[in-house]
Formats: sequence, C-alpha cells, structure tokens
Amino acid sequence: MSDESGRVVIVGGGILGTMHAVLARRRGYAVTQLEREPAGRGASVRNFGLVWVSGRRAGAELALAVRARELWEEIADGAAGTGFRSAGSLTIATSEAELAVMREAAALPDAGQRAFELLDPDQVRSVNPALRGDFLGGLHCRADAIVEPRLALPALRASLAGPAYEWRPGLEAVEVAAHGVRDQYGCWHRGDLVVLCTGANFTGLAGPHLAATGALASASAAGHGDRAGEPSGLRRVRLQMLQTLPFDQPLTTALADGDSLRYYPAYDVPARAALPPQAPVAAASRSQLLLVQRLDGSLTIGDTHEYDEPFGFDVDETAYDHLLARASALLGVPVPRVQRRWAGVYSEVVGTTALYHRSDVAPGVVLVTGPGGRGMTCSPAIAEETFQ
Ligand SMILES: Cc1cc2nc3c(=O)[nH]c(=O)nc-3n(C[C@H](O)[C@H](O)[C@H](O)COP(=O)(O)OP(=O)(O)OC[C@H]3O[C@@H](n4cnc5c(N)ncnc54)[C@H](O)[C@@H]3O)c2cc1C
Repeated sequence: MSDESGRVVIVGGGILGTMHAVLARRRGYAVTQLEREPAGRGASVRNFGLVWVSGRRAGAELALAVRARELWEEIADGAAGTGFRSAGSLTIATSEAELAVMREAAALPDAGQRAFELLDPDQVRSVNPALRGDFLGGLHCRADAIVEPRLALPALRASLAGPAYEWRPGLEAVEVAAHGVRDQYGCWHRGDLVVLCTGANFTGLAGPHLAATGALASASAAGHGDRAGEPSGLRRVRLQMLQTLPFDQPLTTALADGDSLRYYPAYDVPARAALPPQAPVAAASRSQLLLVQRLDGSLTIGDTHEYDEPFGFDVDETAYDHLLARASALLGVPVPRVQRRWAGVYSEVVGTTALYHRSDVAPGVVLVTGPGGRGMTCSPAIAEETFQ
C-alpha cells in the first residue's frame, strides 16, 4: 500500500478500530469503518479512560504505553471532546509493606519515564486535596492521563469527518475474503488493507480464524507459556464497574489503592513478596480500586477480574461494597450514591511476550485484538504499528 492513496476498511467501532481509522487518515488513506451496533458498545465505552503508563512492565510494554500516551495527546489536540487531560495518578499506600513496594518502584531505572515520585501524606494531600482519609503515602505518576470513554469515540470520529472517512454503523461484517469483507446485506467492502478490530468476540468473523490457528488460550505446555499449565494465547476477562453521582470536590488525579501493586507488572520488585495476603473479599473478586473523576464530577470506580467462562450475567454486590468502602476510606468521606453499574469484557494475550494479537486472516486482511487492560491506553501506538 502506498502512502499517497488507497483505502483501508476497518471492522469495529471500538477504540482499536477508531485509532486505526485516525492513523490511516494521517497517512492519507481513505477509510471505511463498519460497526455492527449503532455506536461502539464494547470495552471501549465501559472502561475508566485511563491512559495508564505507571503500571506497565519495563521494556517493550512501557515503550508502547509511552508512545501511545504521546500519540493520545497529539490526537486529542486535533479532536475536541475526547476529554484528554494530563492529570497523572496517585497510588495510595495504607501499609508499610505497600510503601516499601512504592519506594523500590520509585528507584527503578525507568522511574523517570513513568514520572514517578514517592510522596508523604502531606505531599499527597497537596497534590490531590480531596484525599482526606488515612494513609502513609503515595506514588505519584505524572505520566498517566485520562480520557472520557463515553465521549472519546464520537469525538475522534468527528475529527475525521470528510469525504475520505466513511462511518458505517449498523453493518456487521459476516464474511472475509482477500482484501474485503461482506456485510449482512451482502455488500462487499474492499480495500488495500482490511483491519478487523472486533474486540473480545471469539466467535463470528474472527472465530474460525482464531480456532484454526490455535490462537485461543489453552493450558500451555512447558516452555510455551510463562509457566507450564498456565493459559497461553487469547482469553477473555470480565470486569465490574460503577459510576456515582457527582462528587462535590475536584479530584486532581486518578487514584489507585495498594491492591493495584499486586496486579501491575511494574511493581514486580522484591518488596512485593512481603505484601500480606489481600483481604478475602478482594482476593475472591481479584479486585483493585481504581477511581477516576469524570468531567461531570461523577466517580468511575472499579474493578474486579473474572477469568473463568461462562461469565456471570449479573453483577456481584459484595465486590462493589468492598470497592466503595476502599474509595470512601481514601477520600475520608462517603462516596455519592451509585448511579450506574455495568460489566465489561476485554480480550488479552497471555503466556507470551506479545503485547497484543495480530495475525493475517487472508491476503490483505489483518486481525488486531487482545491488548487486555491496556487497550484504551495503547490503541494509538498499536494502530501505528499496523501501518508501519
Ligand atoms: C471495565 C473495563 C475497564 C478498562 N479500563 C481500561 C483503562 O482504563 N485503560 C486502558 O488502557 N484499558 C482499559 N480497558 C481495556 C480496554 O477497554 C480494551 O482493551 C479496549 O477497549 C479494546 O478495544 P477494542 O476496540 O478492541 O474492543 P471493543 O471496544 O469491544 O470494540 C470492538 C467493536 O467491534 C464491533 N464488532 C465486533 N464484531 C464485528 C463485526 N463482525 N462487524 C462489525 N462490528 C463488529 C463490536 O460491536 C465492538 O463495538 C478496560 C476494559 C474494561 C472492560
């Protein structure tokens, strides 16, 4: 494909598909983007909107997130309404063991890339005065940013408006051939390149390809995954989230609690081994507190992690009770009444050093999925790699 002309067909109106549309337009390609729903309804509108650099694994994962954050800032500059803001984040320590992990993380060679700084309680409160609970300190990450998940997709599409960008909601791609996909009405959409960004859907369009290539997670043999018996390949993860009514004070940063130190690979430092067991309710739902204030003042709070399918079709209140109590403890006041609850599913690659899944489905047709819990962050850099 030359940089001067050509058409890219994108299947999927989530953040991966939309960032592919943005990056394709930047390179001068005409774009047709199909989405089976009237608008994106997948993981991309259900997330925190965290452009999260802080917790990334040293090396390629951090580099991808840092590049993505640069691109997000640039792209948001030309796309009014994504809500992008360089708010940074604070991960709050409520025990000496958590503080020890943060101290070691802040001393890592790549701490500068994450703009890490260990703060005492007074410094935490001066960065984010809404934090009036009891804690021992916090890790400030100035590299983290926030976007508005419910606004970002339409804002990005609006920035592409023009004759070379065609947004086709309500069209489901049901068949793939070389350089093309057929929609449910029998119409073929052809391009120099077709990019399938179909999210966590392991049936339908991507299903036969994923099954035939053995890309779906199964217990690994020794040497294939990270450890024998652990899954290797693509799997799905379900998370529970909620949103409160507006909180009456501004939160200047995103927030995480000490449980997030157990999950993010950046915190795989020696002191992590000394963390006591997680509270049973948090361990049962694999919870960590992440909290982001939306532009209207409301608080998005999560999250839990469910790995075994079939997933629950309902939401579990016990996990929410725990997360709301953690949020209130850090803020030092009760959080406002819950306004909305939902669950979301993402797909992620596990048991491999790959940061996401990319494979050739047919000549001129590529499938990109599996960025896991870093998809909102990394989507612009992943799209950039597709066109490189
Ligand atoms: C609760 C939750 C919180 C998260 N928080 C964060 C966060 O704060 N930061 C972060 O970096 N990441 C976060 N993530 C991860 C991130 O949201 C995902 O990795 C990312 O949104 C995946 O984007 P996507 O475009 O691949 O998938 P999706 O957003 O699911 O989009 C896929 C789209 O493809 C469409 N589609 C599927 N098949 C077809 C077809 N055949 N034809 C037409 N359309 C089709 C679907 O309708 C859907 O709209 C979170 C995820 C969840 C679930």
